Amino acid sequence: MIKVDFNRPITVGNEFEYMRQAVENAHISGDGPFTKKCHAFLERELGVPKALLTTSCTHALEMSALLLDIQPGDEVIIPDFTFVSTVNAFVLRGAKPVFLDVRPDTLNLDESKLEAAITPRTKAVVPVHYAGVGCEMDKILAVAYQHNIAVIEDNAHGLFGKYRGKYLGTFGSLASQSFHETKNFSCGEGGALLINDPALAERAEIIREKGTNRSRFFRGQVDKYTWVDIGSSYLPSDILAAFLYAQFEQREKIQTHRKQVWEMYAVGLKDWAAAHDVRLPYVPEDCEQAYHMFYMLLPDLELRQKLIMYLRERGIYSVFHYLPLHLSDMGRGFGGREGDCPVTERISDQLIRLPFHNALTSNDQEMVIEAIREFRFS
Ligand SMILES: *Cc1c(COP(=O)(O)O)cnc(C)c1O
Repeated sequence: MIKVDFNRPITVGNEFEYMRQAVENAHISGDGPFTKKCHAFLERELGVPKALLTTSCTHALEMSALLLDIQPGDEVIIPDFTFVSTVNAFVLRGAKPVFLDVRPDTLNLDESKLEAAITPRTKAVVPVHYAGVGCEMDKILAVAYQHNIAVIEDNAHGLFGKYRGKYLGTFGSLASQSFHETKNFSCGEGGALLINDPALAERAEIIREKGTNRSRFFRGQVDKYTWVDIGSSYLPSDILAAFLYAQFEQREKIQTHRKQVWEMYAVGLKDWAAAHDVRLPYVPEDCEQAYHMFYMLLPDLELRQKLIMYLRERGIYSVFHYLPLHLSDMGRGFGGREGDCPVTERISDQLIRLPFHNALTSNDQEMVIEAIREFRFS
């Protein structure tokens, strides 16, 4: 019997009311009133010049690859420890992924190894703010600028996190957000592309609207709309935007709750972790995290698996994630070999994620913490 889910989606405010309104507005295709509200919210709250809702973070990343004209043979630098979409979006354009190892402390792309990975074919680097804790953006931006390569942030975990006082997702020329069921703010499946380089804004609208200048047409900037570029259908239904906007309205409530969840784990497991050589998440001084997840690094794979099974027997669902990309079937096809990214290879065996969602109660958490404290290491 499940006592504590790993993830459970819930409504937090006006989701159903707004979905009903979307239908009554007689605009349930893309770019209706609720989509516009979501765009305005993201632009205002984050201070980005342009935000576009997409059908997923994966699609926002695919749009980025199209916008940057990634061509077969181009190289794109990606952290080895991330979700497949971060890399797939570029591989779809024929790019060769270059997997960079991560830092042992934040599990973010190791910026000290970035420069050495750049070749004349490198077009972009895609930092992922793992667990909503910012990458070393100052260093990454400086190296990227010096070598004239684009920076695209995969900010799926990091909405409302900050690095040196500035929101994650506002550093790269482009950034992607996810509103998948498992993320802080959700509409089931959804995402957004944040466009910080205004030169990319108009083409982004076109690519998102099947390669047509439909957005310009609706603004009265052209008198007919037509096929002007390559593109696809990357805009979500306004019903989904309605659901998402209701979650955005509860930004404070959601983030305050998630902060409490994170801190309860951190406080409740601190002494236990120290006594058993378990490492808890590290958040650098100059980062404000987005409270996306709570992970722990167990001493080794065997203990990690044992803990997951032990918790499952008690009805508590925890998970591990991100196998090293360079050792996947696809990654090996791009030349990945054992030992290429030793930190990722190690931490991928050790990492466990505890139940973390917007419906998690402190009773649930007490159960999880108690169970973990009673776990026998031998
Ligand atoms: C969830 C996630 C994605 C994919 O998001 P979708 O909206 O499901 O496409 C991409 N990158 C990272 C780091 C993620 O965690």
